[in-house]
Amino acid sequence: MKRQVAALQQYFPVDKWPALPCPKCDSTLTALAGDIHFDRLSLRMQNWNALGLDPDEITGVFSGRLVCANTACLEVVAVLGDYGTNWDTGPTGRTDLYEVLKVRMLYPALPLFELPDDVPDAVVTELDRAAAVVWADPRSAITALRTGLERLMDAQGVPARNKVGRHLSLHQRLVDFRTGAAAGTTDAATRVEASDLLEAVKWVGNDGTHTGSTPITAADVLEIAEFIEIALKMLYAPNNAAALARAKRIIASKALVR
Ligand SMILES: [Zn+2]
Repeated sequence: MKRQVAALQQYFPVDKWPALPCPKCDSTLTALAGDIHFDRLSLRMQNWNALGLDPDEITGVFSGRLVCANTACLEVVAVLGDYGTNWDTGPTGRTDLYEVLKVRMLYPALPLFELPDDVPDAVVTELDRAAAVVWADPRSAITALRTGLERLMDAQGVPARNKVGRHLSLHQRLVDFRTGAAAGTTDAATRVEASDLLEAVKWVGNDGTHTGSTPITAADVLEIAEFIEIALKMLYAPNNAAALARAKRIIASKALVR
């Protein structure tokens, strides 16, 4: 999980942008002075006093650009979101009104996941969809993650239909994957461990997609995304077999062997 993105769950002071990962390189994005715009154009912001609002009820929107700090990259990310005000105690101990921001959209989206190279593209596509909407619409992000599980079951060779052609539920596919009833290349122990994580994602995804009875926050999405990331790291770990076999040969001969 890209830890830095977790800071976007909350409002932060306008002059304290979290260090966000660049979507193109390993560097961080910075907000250039004067590049983030929030103004008092709206009547609500102009007339908050006459409208009987408290100072901490002033709300609006912001938009701007973030730029990669790596001069060999200089990727630009467009950003927009909520502007507000919060009472807080400053370094001098005085309580003051601070301007704060909350990100709702970043384009291009910032990655949520750190994945092994071998994760199938169809799965990555759904995870990217989740990353694109997580701050604006967490419930849609959960739905994309749930679709990602369907694509993962495809990639693991778990049939989507039964023998008479009826569509199998995601739950049934996960059961088939866990028990090894479906043809798959993953070993039994890894399958069972990964299944626990994937089934937990499915239950949250079911609720987010079908019933909608529980409010879903970006924090919930990040937690669920972490389960998927761990499961994918189990299922698509780089194959170290050749290196391990050679290490054993070197140990056996107590010298470098080709
Ligand atoms: Zn960059």
